[in-house]
Order: sequence, then structure tokens, then C-alpha cells
Amino acid sequence: MTPSVLIWFRNDLRPTDHPAWHAACASGLRPIPVFIEEPWRTEASPWLDGRPALGARRAQFVAESVHALQEALGGLLVRRGEPATVLAALAEEYGATQVHCTAGHAPYERNDEAAVAARLDLVRHEGATLLHPDDLPFDLADTPEVFTRFRNKVERKWKVRPALPAPAVAVDVPKEAQAVTAKEPVDARLALTYEGSHQAARARLHHYLDGTRALSTYKETRNGLIGADYSSKFSPWLASGALGPRETYEAIRAYEAQHGANDSTYWLVFELLWRDYFAFVARQFGPRLYAGSGLRAAAPPPPWNSRARTAFDRWSRGATGQPFVDACLHELNATGFLSNRGRQVAASYLVHDLGVDWRAGAAWFEHHLIDHDPASNAGNWLYIAGRGNDPRPVRRFNPEGQAERYDPDGAYRDLWV
Ligand SMILES: Cc1cc2nc3c(=O)[nH]c(=O)nc-3n(C[C@H](O)[C@H](O)[C@H](O)COP(=O)(O)OP(=O)(O)OC[C@H]3O[C@@H](n4cnc5c(N)ncnc54)[C@H](O)[C@@H]3O)c2cc1C
Repeated sequence: MTPSVLIWFRNDLRPTDHPAWHAACASGLRPIPVFIEEPWRTEASPWLDGRPALGARRAQFVAESVHALQEALGGLLVRRGEPATVLAALAEEYGATQVHCTAGHAPYERNDEAAVAARLDLVRHEGATLLHPDDLPFDLADTPEVFTRFRNKVERKWKVRPALPAPAVAVDVPKEAQAVTAKEPVDARLALTYEGSHQAARARLHHYLDGTRALSTYKETRNGLIGADYSSKFSPWLASGALGPRETYEAIRAYEAQHGANDSTYWLVFELLWRDYFAFVARQFGPRLYAGSGLRAAAPPPPWNSRARTAFDRWSRGATGQPFVDACLHELNATGFLSNRGRQVAASYLVHDLGVDWRAGAAWFEHHLIDHDPASNAGNWLYIAGRGNDPRPVRRFNPEGQAERYDPDGAYRDLWV
């Protein structure tokens, strides 16, 4: 049997900008790429009356991304089960001694890694963030409590490692099928069709940068609510890993070299730093990321009783009677996407106006968002709930004031309510 090496793909479904895939191919061993559908995908969420954490739209998006990766690599095994069990069986089947993967941030990803490492030689590579944790001017355990301090520190010692090209290697395993294949209906009001693939991600990157030069006005438009180009819409591809953070960064720098840098081009990198920040915070706090009281043991969360359940049910259906909030939920539920402004207002309303535990809202977002990212989702919810990385104890968004400012003519509410 040819000695082999396993590459465990998860939220890193791309061939480029991929240190784990690169290292596995450089080992000279036969590379065996595998994607594993873990049991949590179909398990009922305790907050969602039997719904699974992985909703149908994201499942479809991920399935498309897996399929595209199979085409790009020339083969990819798809298996179901606990990663440690699946990988141990594959290691035996293919005579592999080592497994490479991209290091995860969420507690469940770290748990899976620990279980694999207990049985096999697991090599973790840092490929999910723009900045490599080893290049930070502090230990991950000392990640600053406030984003501005984090940003100031990393900007003073700025280092982004180059995005690696796709390795030229022939993969000799079959293209196995995924369980999820159903096509979700597309709402006619959806401004942008999200297709899960590295090619679609690159096409969107090109569209937002050189194609339309929308990047040059990002800072002015990023609080928009309607349309395809008020913000980059890179998040679904960054979350599934079809787009790498370093290749995104390099594209922004190349754009700046050609068309000029300004506040807007800086601001997109600034937002990518928020993404990194929440990933590092997730690593720093581990399971506390899901603690109802928050990262630093604030007051206990409100009780999850019948009053809370009724309020949550109305909120989740977009039936609160608050038109801006309802419009946000209708958009999320119908499309799997919601603007950053809409997410902030909807989250604040659930936590501060309805007094519901932030984890119920985070679970609803997790189920529906095609860009769900465990660190960014929990980090932003905690932030708004005043239980995370925010110097202000209460970050309430007044929905009427927000509607007046960001939807003055009511076009957004008319579109979705
Ligand atoms: C309650 C709540 C939940 C959220 N859940 C998620 C989530 O599950 N997944 C997710 O990717 N983003 C999440 N966000 C952050 C943000 O809303 C989305 O990243 C953004 O709206 C995606 O649209 P875009 O790609 O056009 O962003 P752009 O404005 O174009 O920003 C570019 C990229 O920067 C990153 N980014 C921007 N804002 C943030 C932020 N506040 N936190 C972390 N990263 C950011 C994203 O990767 C984004 O794609 C959440 C925000 C809130 C308030």
C-alpha cells in the first residue's frame, strides 16, 4: 500500500490559501482528502423546538462547496460520523500515519481535534484567520478585552503571511456524494445568489473589487440594507472557507495598488480584523463562549420560561409588531442572509426589549445564516448583550431611531414586511 496522509477538510473548502492542504501535499505521501458530516448537523437544537443547528440553506451551500472542492482537487471522500472514529478507520484503510487540518476556533471544533489527536498524529495549521496566532504581539490567552486595543496592537506589528497557491498534485480517490442535495427555493427579493464554491467566491471578489470598484465606497455604503453591493457579501464564502482570508487581503492590497487606497479599502481590512478578533476570543475562552452569563461571568441570563419562549417565537417569525425588526427576521428567514445593521437591530431587540436569553437568538441565526461562523456569531451576540467584548454594559439599538436613520423612506420595511 502506498503510504498516505489524510487531509480533513471542514470550514476550509478551498484549494488555495490552505496551509494544511499545502503541507500534506508537500509531504510526498499520497494525499487523501476527506470531508466529514458530523452528527451535530442533524441533531435537534435545545433552543429550536427540534430544528437542527444546520439549516437547509447552509446545508445546501456547504454541499455545493464540497462538490466544487471535489472537482477542484480531482477527488474527495465524504463520510458521516464522529471525526475521530471516521479518521481512525480511514487511516487504517489507506495506510496513513498522519492527519492534517486547519485549526478550528469553536469549542466543538477544538473538542473534535482533541479526540482525533488522542488517536492519531494530528497536525493543525493556522489557515482560518488573516493573522497567524504566532505573529500576534501577545499570547492568545492574553487577547485584549476590547477590540480597539487588539487592533492597535496588531496594527503596530502588522504581519500577514502570503496566501499559498493550490498545490499541483493528482488526487487518487473517488468523488463521493453528500447526503444533502435538495435545492432550497430562492426568494425573488434576494439581491444576490450565493453559490457555494471557490469559483463563485473568486467571482464575487472580482465583482466587488475590480468589476464595480464598490470597494472604494465601502465605508459610506456598508450600513445599507437593500441590494447586492452595499457591502462585500464575502461572509458566506469566508465562513465555509471557499474564500481564504489571506487571498482576500492580497486582492484588496492589489486593488489599492492599482486604484488607490482610501478609508473604504482600509475599512474592509478593519472588518476582517473583527472576524479574526472573535476567532481569537473563541480560542481564549473555550466553552465559556456559550455561557449564558457571558465571557466574564456577568449576571445570569434571563429564565427560559414560557414568557420568553412566546416572545422568542414572535421574534423568530418576524411577528413582534416592530416593523424594522420584523423586516429583518423576514429577510433572514427567507434568504439566509441579513445585513450587519439588520443583525444588530434584531439581536438588540430580542435581548434588550424582549428580555430573552441571547443564546436563543444566536441559535436562530446559526440555523438560518448561510454565513454562520461560530466565533463571529457568538462573539457578536455576546457583544450586543453586554456580556462579551464591549466596554459598554448595554448596547441597545433603538429600532425606531435605526429605522429613521437607515430606512428613512421605509423601502426596506416595504420590501420585507
Ligand atoms: C448578532 C450578529 C451575528 C453575526 N453573526 C455572524 C456570523 O455568524 N458569521 C459572520 O460571518 N458574521 C456574523 N456577523 C457579523 C456581520 O454582520 C457579517 O459578517 C456581515 O454582515 C457579513 O456581510 P458582508 O460579508 O457583506 O460584510 P462586510 O461588511 O463586507 O465585511 C467584510 C467581512 O468582514 C467580516 N466582518 C464584518 N463585520 C464583522 C463583525 N461584526 N464580526 C465579525 N466579522 C465581521 C466578515 O467576514 C465579512 O464578510 C454577525 C453580526 C451580528 C451583529
